[in-house]
Amino acid sequence: MKKKVILVIIDGLGDEYIPELRDTPLGFISTKLNTINKMAREGMCGLVNVISPGIPPSSDTAHFTIFGYDLSKEYTGRGYFEALGANIPIEEGDVALRFNLATVEKIGDLLYIRDRRAGRISGTQAEKLISDLQRAIDENDLPAELHHTLEHRGVLVIKGKEKLSRCISDVDPHETDVPVLQSEPFEEISKEDVDAALRTASIVNKITQLSFEVLDKHPINRERGEQGLPKANIILSRGAGIAIKLTPFNEKWGMNAAYVAGGPLYKGVAKAVGMKEIYVEGATGTVNTNLEGKIKGVIDAIDKGFDFVFLHIKGTDSLSHDKKPRLKAEFILKIDNVLHELLELKDIVIALTGDHSTSSRLGRHIGLPVPIVFYSDSTIRRNNLHRFNEMECAENGALGSIRGSDIMPILLDLSNRTMEYGLRPSPKKVMYAGAFGKPLRI
Ligand code: ZN
Ligand code: ZN
Repeated sequence: MKKKVILVIIDGLGDEYIPELRDTPLGFISTKLNTINKMAREGMCGLVNVISPGIPPSSDTAHFTIFGYDLSKEYTGRGYFEALGANIPIEEGDVALRFNLATVEKIGDLLYIRDRRAGRISGTQAEKLISDLQRAIDENDLPAELHHTLEHRGVLVIKGKEKLSRCISDVDPHETDVPVLQSEPFEEISKEDVDAALRTASIVNKITQLSFEVLDKHPINRERGEQGLPKANIILSRGAGIAIKLTPFNEKWGMNAAYVAGGPLYKGVAKAVGMKEIYVEGATGTVNTNLEGKIKGVIDAIDKGFDFVFLHIKGTDSLSHDKKPRLKAEFILKIDNVLHELLELKDIVIALTGDHSTSSRLGRHIGLPVPIVFYSDSTIRRNNLHRFNEMECAENGALGSIRGSDIMPILLDLSNRTMEYGLRPSPKKVMYAGAFGKPLRI
């Protein structure tokens, strides 16, 4: 019998040794975990190198890989996921970039970045600046739309009237006190793609330049200058992504999939692969998210007949970026406290892991592997492991070390959905049973 599958991603779950805790945050709290330790005792654990050992994934590349998509062939770039997740209208062929309103200082013919967030300018002021800049973009006949999202952030959509490319470098150097960069095509792309990339980069460069011309002298910035606040006098864009049709998750894995998530990026990746949203009131993608509600959302989705549910919890990663290892540990305990209802489901396989490790000492993603547990209400190997943490999963896990791209095949196998390697009843190359070609008519 086919089982239902739940994939729980606790963002940035893994960590490094934190001297004040004398352990990783997960290791420190793992003596107190009830449900996750039960899953670990009765299931199979191991470590995941999500992309490859030593490579710190971004959240979008990590999720894309875990969902079974090939970064080298199918990756669309982050901006597309951001746009989808924020419900910004985007059509096939458009290119989307995230942007920040930032503060620059003009020295000679260069623009030096002084504050990448323009003093975290208020949403109301940002909104006004962005709408005035949009007017200038339209007057200059540039095929682009700006969408404000939160505080200093927004999404720039370049309309694909002519062929565009996502393979362009960022104008944002991701550091302060260095000049704003010129966007250029990636060096490694093929000759056919260079024209599209040159066209896209040129539009981005024009918009960046225009943003400084319009915003630097804008009355809001004059006022901010008088009040001693940093001017929001440029938009710095990054992470170009192109809207393309991806093979739907359902086609790839033979399961109808739904997702429960709060953060726009995760919603965006899930939407891009065709998962259906289960909306949960108060699911914010922050540490104050409605954890109970999210678990109810997962159970709802299973009851509605979805075969696969992806649950994303973001708070752990945010606390790591804020260098708060103790709060990260406490948040993991809060998650553990709500998970027990999932274990009461029948005919279920659950995988629980992170999308990458985030160091709460350094405040950034690191390349160390993440612990994973596969739990099922029946038929699975059990490892001799009592606590779910990085070191026990490495030392006593039944699985050893796997890659992010191994997670979906393992889930297929444990949920009795897999097909023996080499069998080919369908022209489409899939791993799951039940995909057939046309019946022969006689
Ligand atoms: Zn992440
Ligand atoms: Zn992160």
